[in-house]
Amino acid sequence: MSVVSNDKQYIASTYARSPLSVSEGNGSHLTDFDGKEYIDLSAGIAVNTFGVADAEWVKAVSEQAQKLQHISNLYYTKPQTDLAKLLCEKTGLCKVFFSNSGAEANECAIKTARKYSFDKYGEGRYTIITLKNSFHGRTITTLSATGQDTYHTIFNPFTEGFVYAEANNIDDLKQKIEENNCCAFMFEAIQGEGGVNVLCDEYLKEAAKICEEKDILLIADEVQTGNGRTGKYFGYMHSGITPDIVSTAKGLAGGLPMGATLFGEKTKDVLVPGTHGSTFGGNPVCAAGAVSIVSRIDDALLCEVTRKGELVKELLKDAKGVESVSGRGLMLGIKTTRPAKDIVVEALEKGVVVLTAKDKVRLLPPLNIADEQLIKAINIIKDICGKE
Ligand SMILES: *Cc1c(COP(=O)(O)O)cnc(C)c1O
Repeated sequence: MSVVSNDKQYIASTYARSPLSVSEGNGSHLTDFDGKEYIDLSAGIAVNTFGVADAEWVKAVSEQAQKLQHISNLYYTKPQTDLAKLLCEKTGLCKVFFSNSGAEANECAIKTARKYSFDKYGEGRYTIITLKNSFHGRTITTLSATGQDTYHTIFNPFTEGFVYAEANNIDDLKQKIEENNCCAFMFEAIQGEGGVNVLCDEYLKEAAKICEEKDILLIADEVQTGNGRTGKYFGYMHSGITPDIVSTAKGLAGGLPMGATLFGEKTKDVLVPGTHGSTFGGNPVCAAGAVSIVSRIDDALLCEVTRKGELVKELLKDAKGVESVSGRGLMLGIKTTRPAKDIVVEALEKGVVVLTAKDKVRLLPPLNIADEQLIKAINIIKDICGKE
C-alpha cells in the first residue's frame, strides 16, 4: 500500500507504527483505507476529546479558518482571549501562556519556575524535583525533567537541575527538598506514559503543604490528565490542591496542536515581555477549536466520564487475565497476565484501537464515547485478555 511504502521511504523513522491507516472517522468510530471499521479507545493519545469530526468542533474551527487563520502574537486575537478567560474561570487560575504542544507547555512552566525563583532569591535556586517514571516531553529540557533513565542517554549534555523523587513516597520528597536548592516540584496527577500510576491524594496534599511552606512552586503537568480526562477538569483537582503552574495540551483543542501553561496568583506576572514567546502559540484556529471543547467540559460531562470509567472497571472486574485496573475517569491502565503488546495487536485485528503504557494496556477513549461502543470494545478486550 502506497501510504505505508511512502511513509517508510520519506518519513523519518522515529515511530514503530502499528499497521493501521485511518482514512476517516466519526466520534469513536474509525474507518481505514480498506473500509474496515474500528472502535477507538485511544482518541489519538487523549487528543480527540470529543472523537473524530465532532460537528460543533468542525463548525468552530472552519468558521474561524474562514475568518482569520493567523496574525501572530504581536497583535490581539479574540479566540485566544476567549479561551484564556474560559480556562481561568474553569480552574481558578489567573493567566495563561499558549504554545503548541505538551513539551512546550512544560518548557514554559520550567522557565517560569526558574524565573520566579531568580527574581525572588537570585542565582542558584533552580533545581526542580520531578518523579521517577514521569514523562514530560521530548525536548532536551523536558527529557531532563522526565524521571526515566532510558531517556537520559545519547543526547548529552542534558539540561541540568532536575532531581527525581519516588512517586507516592513523601519521605523521599522531603529528603530531595533538603538535599537540593529547589524552586519547584513537578508531577503528573496520574503518570500516563509511565504506566497509568495514580498519585495518592494524601501524598499530593502533603507535598503541596511542604512546598507551600518552603515557597517551592507546585507544577502540575496536566498534558494527558487535563481537560476532563480523569473526571475532573484537571487531575490534581481530585486531591483538592492548588498548583502554582499547570501545563496542558493533548485534549485541549480537540485534535489541533495547542499547549497552555496556566499561572496562579504567585506566578501570574513572572513572565514579562522578552522572556518567552511563540509564533504559533494561541493560533486563532486552534484557539477556536479549544473554546468549543473547553466550554463543553462541564459538571454533567465530568460525571459521565467518571461513570464510564467505573463502568469499564466493573466490566473488567474479576475478568480472566486481568490482574488490575488503574486510573481515573477515562484514563485507565489494565494490568494483564498476557503481554500488553500482544493484546494491543489482537485488539486491532478485532477492530478495537487501544494503547500501551509500560506493561499495561492503556485506554483513553473520546470523552463522549457512547456506552454501547464502550461496552462492545471492552468485551472484545476482555475476551483477548482471557485467552490462554
Ligand atoms: C504527551 C505528554 C507530554 C508531551 O506532549 P507533546 O505534545 O508530545 O510534546 C508531556 N507530558 C505528559 C504528561 C504527556 O502525557
